Amino acid sequence: MVTATQPGQQVKIGPTRLLINNEWVESISDRRFETINPATGEVICEVAEADAADVDKAVKAARAAFNGEWSKISATRRGELIYKLADLIEQNIDELARLETLDNGKPLQDSLDDLGLVIACYRYYAGWADKVQGKTIPINGPYFCYTRHEPVGVVGQIIPWNFPLLMQAWKLAPALATGNTVVLKTAEQTPLSALRVGELIIEAGFPPGVVNILSGYGPTAGAAIARHMDIDKVAFTGSTEVGHLIMEAAAKSNLKRVTLELGGKSPNIVFADADMDAAIAGSHDAIFFNQGQCCCAGSRLFVEEKCYDEFVARTVERAKQRVVGNPFDANTEQGPQVDKDQFDKVMSYIESGMREGAQMLCGGNRVGEQGFFIAPTVFADVRDDMKIAQEEIFGPVMSIIKFKDLDEVIQRANATMYGLAAAVWTKDITKAHAIANNLRAGTVWVNCYDVFDAAAPFGGFKQSGIGRELGEYGLQQYTEIKTVTIKL
Ligand code: ADP
Repeated sequence: MVTATQPGQQVKIGPTRLLINNEWVESISDRRFETINPATGEVICEVAEADAADVDKAVKAARAAFNGEWSKISATRRGELIYKLADLIEQNIDELARLETLDNGKPLQDSLDDLGLVIACYRYYAGWADKVQGKTIPINGPYFCYTRHEPVGVVGQIIPWNFPLLMQAWKLAPALATGNTVVLKTAEQTPLSALRVGELIIEAGFPPGVVNILSGYGPTAGAAIARHMDIDKVAFTGSTEVGHLIMEAAAKSNLKRVTLELGGKSPNIVFADADMDAAIAGSHDAIFFNQGQCCCAGSRLFVEEKCYDEFVARTVERAKQRVVGNPFDANTEQGPQVDKDQFDKVMSYIESGMREGAQMLCGGNRVGEQGFFIAPTVFADVRDDMKIAQEEIFGPVMSIIKFKDLDEVIQRANATMYGLAAAVWTKDITKAHAIANNLRAGTVWVNCYDVFDAAAPFGGFKQSGIGRELGEYGLQQYTEIKTVTIKL
């Protein structure tokens, strides 16, 4: 175990090899890749790089566990193991938060907040483990008919880099509660925290092969998961573009079940009758939280004409105050983008906004000499047809769009291929319901934003995804329904 130093901080790195069958192993090719500290651009360490052969090895371990020891463990015991994991994460919360911040760049307090949700998610699904049950069904004739909710089998899970620990929890917790075994691939930008959780999974007492964790790239290890003939289901969170590839690979291989949580261009709608202080603060967080790297970011900010000028002026003031810097500093609100690719992509969207004639009122520039920091950027007078209003930027770039009335804003808000989230700020309950009912989005927040709870389902309409994660609905994606009919 090595340690790295961040100004004033010691960060324990944890495992850097692959977790297969409860053993830490190098990849079969023996290749490793570097993971970078986005605040400095420096290499943190190297980790083992999984490829198709390692995926295959992990799937064999997961299959053996699924057919063997794991299938004999009671539902109650599965719950106990997940509770134990949650306790261990809680006991190591500071270490995990620092590791997450080092590898991802998010402010330390945000990592700690994520971990609160991580622990809650494991506990929520631990509680479900022995409460997943079928029905008895009164069919015609002398028969007794009932359903069983059985695990899908070996599940491949591919997670992104924006919330590494939280996405690991959203994936592992419901899969394990329902009795599946897992091969999870982390994003190449952020392999470290999930591996440390791997150590805690072993410590909690999960049998070998139940959870396998691979570090590696998407087109190699990720694609190998998507096309594997012995993976029964793939759960993916990432870009819509890759979501298409996952589904195609599933179709071309074994018709594995597919759940996808993909991109968004979520409308955040502010009416003039809103509590303006709350709307301004909430809209700021809706786009800038997590360096703008949220699939549900409020990236199309529709503001009613009547309050537009005041809203824009105050919003720019707030954005200028946002503290950007060392993510380990207690007062930092915004850290670096996760890597150079994301930094370049966001900067190119900023250029496109300027080119297409949006009004840039603050930001637009790099912050500091090292790392991938971008100043909070606000564009006003954005038109619906501009690239910055249509495509997912995944960075600290706010696009403010003017609107006149309710019907018009509903129509414009829905004019996108995405449908992940939406929000409305108003004191008028009629408008709030009109938005909630008519927007084609998996989540609608009213007078709030980014409220997440393990019990509340999350997922996308349209090209923002397939299926739901979290809550009771999240369990359905990890079970097969079996109908049993017995002649009486
Ligand atoms: P982003 O562009 O934000 O990095 P991606 O969709 O590329 O989002 O990445 C999300 C996850 O999908 C990561 O774990 C990445 O390695 C993986 N991934 C990328 N490309 C593929 C692919 N072709 N097949 C399977 N997984 C992939």
